[in-house]
Amino acid sequence: MSTAFLNNAYMPITEAKISPLDRGFLFGDGIYEVIPAYNGRLLGFDAHIQRMQEGLKGIGLSIDWTTADWKALCTKLSFENGNGNLGIYLQVSRGTDSKRYHAFPEAVTPTIFGFTFDIPQAPIANKTKAKTYSVSTSKDLRWQRCHIKSTALLGNVLHFQEGYEKGSDETLLFNSKSELTEASACNAFIVKNGIVITPPLDNQLLPGITRNMLIDILRKDGTIEVQERIVSMNEVYEADEIWITSSTKEIGAVTSIDGQSVGDGEVGNTWLAAQTLFSRHKYDY
Ligand code: PLP
Repeated sequence: MSTAFLNNAYMPITEAKISPLDRGFLFGDGIYEVIPAYNGRLLGFDAHIQRMQEGLKGIGLSIDWTTADWKALCTKLSFENGNGNLGIYLQVSRGTDSKRYHAFPEAVTPTIFGFTFDIPQAPIANKTKAKTYSVSTSKDLRWQRCHIKSTALLGNVLHFQEGYEKGSDETLLFNSKSELTEASACNAFIVKNGIVITPPLDNQLLPGITRNMLIDILRKDGTIEVQERIVSMNEVYEADEIWITSSTKEIGAVTSIDGQSVGDGEVGNTWLAAQTLFSRHKYDY
């Protein structure tokens, strides 16, 4: 039985209960994070908490938790749940109102929730052992504030399901100008002629912690060029490699898109170089 945290108390997950009037439940009015932890070692912790704090500010929700408070919570959740390979899920919703009304309620205490789930072993930089992914494509029909890690994820869920029903692992999304935004639960990269290219940060995509760490690691190393720029749909189809990144996948090598091979259909050499560097430096963050 896993241990969860809800509103200042730790308890078995089955005993964690919220009111149906919680605005997280009624409106998806909240912010969340997922932080990977391997044997109690948190990955990218400061960046995850900073993104959550920016998200909370972005939706006008203030709580008096410090980074140290979040660290203590994550460390305890990891410990209580066996310090294995864990995704630590954190969520803050605007709290439980006495009625259903769109305007922000006054004097309502935010609901703070945390639990863990098992994640796979961290990927290793080995082409023959790499997990590979297939993706489908779709028009991005989500809202215009995708930079906020909101719990209102129905747009993402519907896009993920579209790909899932076609037998794909993820759905790559393109805006109305046929430019790549991201995937339903990952950021997206292409590789062309040895150059790593990913869409720039704006309101169309989540500022992924893995994305940002990867770009920083590659730029510090300096052997692989990285460009943050608009990526067209044609460039995606003609890419030598496609990657999807997220905290639990790290750098996922995509070998098929809409049923066609990506490049030669094998895990690429640039993936190998990037995952090697990422595995070496990820705990620097
Ligand atoms: N984009 C979306 C829509 C996501 O949901 C996620 C992760 O959940 C990401 C990108 C990757 O973000 P991160 O690297 O911080 O896990």
